[in-house]
Amino acid sequence: MRIPESKHFQLQRLADGVYAAIASERGYAICNAGIVDTGGRTIVFDTFISPDAAKELLRATKRLTPQNAIRVVNSHYHNDHIRGNQVFPSDVDILSTATTREEIAHKEPEVIKWEKRNIPKAIADAKSKLNLEKDPKRLRDLAFSVVYYKAIMESHPKLRMRLPNITFKGNLMIHGTRREVQLLPLTGHTASDIVLYLPDERIAFMGDLLFVNMHPYLASGSPERWKKSLSKIGKLGLQTLVPGHGPVGQSSDLSLMFQYIQSLETIARNMVKMGMPAKEAHLQPVPQPFDTWMMSEDHFIANLEFLYKEASQKGS
Ligand SMILES: [Zn+2]
Repeated sequence: MRIPESKHFQLQRLADGVYAAIASERGYAICNAGIVDTGGRTIVFDTFISPDAAKELLRATKRLTPQNAIRVVNSHYHNDHIRGNQVFPSDVDILSTATTREEIAHKEPEVIKWEKRNIPKAIADAKSKLNLEKDPKRLRDLAFSVVYYKAIMESHPKLRMRLPNITFKGNLMIHGTRREVQLLPLTGHTASDIVLYLPDERIAFMGDLLFVNMHPYLASGSPERWKKSLSKIGKLGLQTLVPGHGPVGQSSDLSLMFQYIQSLETIARNMVKMGMPAKEAHLQPVPQPFDTWMMSEDHFIANLEFLYKEASQKGS
């Protein structure tokens, strides 16, 4: 079968009936998604930041698995994983943990208000920096930020919040006629993160517990719990891991993510020990091998400031 195309994402076939939708750098998906045929039903894992991109995800799902009823799973509450929920017909069930549903309901209205107030200036700032920047890596990061802000701004007038209508606690097993799917509740990137695990294929859709070639965002979770979740997933012996952001990865990317958190924790602890103020986080060089990862200025500095706060609270 020909794989459908979209300017927002690239579909990658991982196994028969299992596809990763990898966000294009210039498209309005922003996060990655998954399409998994369980036999007679298809699970769509995460729905992007923009309803326009999600419409194409729905179209691609119908094309790839035309006979199947669709179910959606939201990995966690962040805007870039849930705002496409609204394009799925009302008879499509949307599943998440009970915590994720509560977080979407409580946080989204505030987040949208904040975005409306702050994003126009953020776009203008990023664009003016873009005009002056010479460094190719920084240019790429800035261009990506502009696309991210525009995806949010342009979707605001169309947004209607669609909450998950089925919630669960603990593992959820789907015994499909074609394959078994496990939804594993973990924590660390946020208070509630779901990993979609395919035991027979040794594939996992990781949500934002994994970023590949891109700085993760640590500040809405817990680094300790994140590291524990990565160790747990490491024991599954996975072959293919689809991150929330970045290209499809492998099990070694789990250890890299673990090392990333650990090495930033060390930098933050040393800053506290040496009496450096948190606002000097931007003076710290990005350690190797993470210096080649995307979003170094924005996420790296925010992560260090967050870990600094944690380290100084532990120390006091
Ligand atoms: Zn996230």
